[in-house]
Amino acid sequence: MAKGRSFGAKLAHEISSEGKVICPVCNTEVKRLKLIRNKKAKNGNWSPRYQFVNICKCNEKDIMSGKL
Ligand SMILES: [Zn+2]
Repeated sequence: MAKGRSFGAKLAHEISSEGKVICPVCNTEVKRLKLIRNKKAKNGNWSPRYQFVNICKCNEKDIMSGKL
């Protein structure tokens, strides 16, 4: 697999019929991840919040450590 160079042109073709998305930066598959987080409501109760994130090598560390 070619690395570096001409990512812009390549990106448009990287979404395959299987629905895979390849990150143009780290060149790994971008996965969709459902995050569940507890969020404190105004009344003081904690309620779960659901959020979808796209995760690849670029941000997986941040997401796993709870930064994002
Ligand atoms: Zn990436």
